[in-house]
Amino acid sequence: MNTLQQKYKSQIEELVKTTRRLGKIGYVTSFGGNLSIRADEDVVAITPTKVAKRKMKFDDIVLVNMKGEVLYTAPNRKPTGETSMHLNILNKRPDAKGVIHAHPPILTGFAAAHSQLLARPILPEPIIEVGPILNAEYAEPVSEDLAKTFNPVILKTNAWLMNNHGITICNCEGIGRTLELLEMLEALAQSVVVALACGKVEEIPKDEVKKLENTIISRGLPLPGLPGYNKSLCTLYFDD
Ligand SMILES: [Zn+2]
Repeated sequence: MNTLQQKYKSQIEELVKTTRRLGKIGYVTSFGGNLSIRADEDVVAITPTKVAKRKMKFDDIVLVNMKGEVLYTAPNRKPTGETSMHLNILNKRPDAKGVIHAHPPILTGFAAAHSQLLARPILPEPIIEVGPILNAEYAEPVSEDLAKTFNPVILKTNAWLMNNHGITICNCEGIGRTLELLEMLEALAQSVVVALACGKVEEIPKDEVKKLENTIISRGLPLPGLPGYNKSLCTLYFDD
């Protein structure tokens, strides 16, 4: 084991475990999706390109610095082509510890429809734990433009649909927790599909969203987005 791998062993292990789980639950297919974890102030552990997520191993994980320079890689591995997208998020969101980009089928359906329904207050837990799922414009995968499409939403919230592509989520607690929250969002999307099949989606009213905001504050949790950026949950959902 390389000295850097030794130093960041626990973070790399957490990333491998989460990456394999992401593959097993079918949120990515083939070589799709990518994950990163902030291992240190200037060290990011990130998944490699062209390795199936469910087969990921400790030595496959690449270590880069915030400039994107490779600090460690196995001889036959290269960091994901979306490395600059991950570094853009970690740079603009110093609170974020883990970032996942994936293609969960139901959420990706909402992205294909450019639906803004998931930005509405529908179920309490996703409101408390993640916040609204906003939409980012389409851009070609593995391009500098893709990283830029996130700029309008990156400070406001923790998860955004990438139109005609998939979803990206970041979280301040680590990569394992980021995946748990992504699973919560896919379940939300499933429930919304059922609600639509039943006729319509009813929103949680503003005074009840205000109560959820009080719960967030009383639990000492951060509001969605860059800490300090959003003044209130109601403003975020109702834009007043
Ligand atoms: Zn993708």
